[in-house]
Amino acid sequence: MSETKEFKAESKRLLEMMINSIYTHKEIFLRELISNASDAMDKLYFKSMSDNSAEAVTRSDMEIKIESDKDARRLTISDNGIGMTAEELENNLGTIAQSGSFAFKKENENNEKTGDVDIIGQFGVGFYSAFMVAKRVTVISKAFGSDKAFMWQSEGVDGYTISEAEKDSHGTVISLEIKDNTEEENYDEFLTPYKIKELVRKYSDYIRYPIKMDVEHERLKEGTGVDGVDPEYEKEVVAETLNSMIPIWKKSKSELKDEDYNQFYKDKFYDYTDPLLHIHSRTEGTATYSALLYIPEKAPYDYYSKSFEKGLQLYSSGVMIMEKCGDLLPDYFSFVKGLVDSEDLSLNISREMLQHDRQLKVIAKSIEKSVKNELKKLQKNDREKYEKFFETFGTQIKYGIYESYGTNKAELQDLLMFKTSNGGMTTLEEYVSRMKEDQQFIYFASGSSVSRIESLPQTELVRDKGFEILYLTDHVDEFCLQMMHDLDGKEYKSVSADDLGLESEEEKQEIQKEQEDNQSLFDFMTEKLAGKVKAVKLSQRLKNHPVCITSEGALSVEMEKVLSAMPNGEGAKAQKVLEINPNHPIFAKLKSLYESDKDKAGDYADILYSQALLIEGMPIEDPVGFSNKICEFLAE
Ligand code: ADP
Repeated sequence: MSETKEFKAESKRLLEMMINSIYTHKEIFLRELISNASDAMDKLYFKSMSDNSAEAVTRSDMEIKIESDKDARRLTISDNGIGMTAEELENNLGTIAQSGSFAFKKENENNEKTGDVDIIGQFGVGFYSAFMVAKRVTVISKAFGSDKAFMWQSEGVDGYTISEAEKDSHGTVISLEIKDNTEEENYDEFLTPYKIKELVRKYSDYIRYPIKMDVEHERLKEGTGVDGVDPEYEKEVVAETLNSMIPIWKKSKSELKDEDYNQFYKDKFYDYTDPLLHIHSRTEGTATYSALLYIPEKAPYDYYSKSFEKGLQLYSSGVMIMEKCGDLLPDYFSFVKGLVDSEDLSLNISREMLQHDRQLKVIAKSIEKSVKNELKKLQKNDREKYEKFFETFGTQIKYGIYESYGTNKAELQDLLMFKTSNGGMTTLEEYVSRMKEDQQFIYFASGSSVSRIESLPQTELVRDKGFEILYLTDHVDEFCLQMMHDLDGKEYKSVSADDLGLESEEEKQEIQKEQEDNQSLFDFMTEKLAGKVKAVKLSQRLKNHPVCITSEGALSVEMEKVLSAMPNGEGAKAQKVLEINPNHPIFAKLKSLYESDKDKAGDYADILYSQALLIEGMPIEDPVGFSNKICEFLAE
């Protein structure tokens, strides 16, 4: 029996972490071992190329084999790669490589919470992850070109032994004695072919060497099941290749049909519906990567909830290193699904390090650009599809502008679409191209639906002029336009805004005079509606309707509606103005009541205000009082 050696201090700590891991994704151990096997074969291949070894090595002979023996609780992963000498076993498995993830762990070892889960979950830490599922690990390896084989064995922190062993050919066999089930953990499943297949497909599908496993099938015994003979079954063992080996994103576009892309999307991202769009690209230069991106047709059920997590799968040379890398997508493109595969990233890199990785940032920028370009193309070439996309995910893009206080405007504004008084939807550019010669502003009106907006009294004047109006029906629309301020110098203007820039000087002066002549009436009404409106005044914009509500200041009535529907948003109040149409008979009536019956004039003020609120789609403060007053007047 050979002597037991101690692990180096750092290895011991990592090992302890693995053995006691409560991490839920213990399954990644298989990915780690398979990656090591694949690397070992790569190394052999390159060695034979550069050495001109007599013993030619061909890639097609290389394979990874998985065997599972349920009774012995043994899972074996073998490769015919470069193998390890006794010294290499000692150096490689007795000491943890100074991989990025471990360096990170060292920095953070005082903070238990950031340790375990993040590192193991996102990146794994190589060979030692086997100890998450195994109580004993045995490695038998024979280095290429050597005639001796050695065995490394360990049951964990106590240390390891290295002794001579028997093995016919070069390569490495790793045997895991799988832990017994506990109340919380079902370790048995790592021995079932079903689970193993699933894990290989999930994490290692694109390893370029075949990963083979003998799988038992039942087949109909020859001569049975026909001519009235009862069917009999017999067992048959078939060596199955579990991985598909060539990543779809590494294939050339010409080899692939839409169906291939769609099928891959559905399998990989668990969607029932074909995606709306796929973007397949290979980029070389400052960042070298392949990307396969998808825009789903429907938003995931949790898309607008907190639990939704954006991100792309991240691969390093065909091996998945992260299931959801959020840093690859800006929030406003969080709907994009897909993956990125880059040779520039190392396999064992921690999430925290990745965040600061320059390469990753370059890739993220480049992805953002390509998503935007594809969306622009779609907008131009397949309008129907684009509008469908925008209906589903447009809100997210508008939030992108709003939340950045407009700094993303240049990148995003040409992706925006709004409903319009012209019918259908329009881009801002199209709107501007249709603007009349004497039109200064880009007009908009807000409301919960197109039909509601169309009936808004405030739209009368703008419409009369024959100017187009953007219909803002999405909560975030007005906030977004406010942040954008203008398009190439053309300001956005609400139809409820103070100065629409439409009235002639004459008209303005006329109304101004009328206003001044009746100032005491307006003061009286303003006082009557104290706390509700900031002012009551004559309207320049109303043509047929009696009253409407507009606002002064940055917060519009529509914005108040949105904010007050949000938690803690009750305090947000627009500075409302009640506007009265000077040409409507109600104004004449108000004037005469103000002279003859002030109480009644006060009631009128209340009713008109409530009506204006109703038109605006706002709740009235005292619906019962309002209705009783109306009935009173009806009964007169
Ligand atoms: P990493 O793969 O990040 O270097 P690991 O802990 O997974 O870290 O492995 C440590 C080292 O052990 C590897 O770098 C490699 O040299 C060696 N090794 C692991 N598995 C094998 C294998 N199947 N064949 C040959 N060498 C291996």
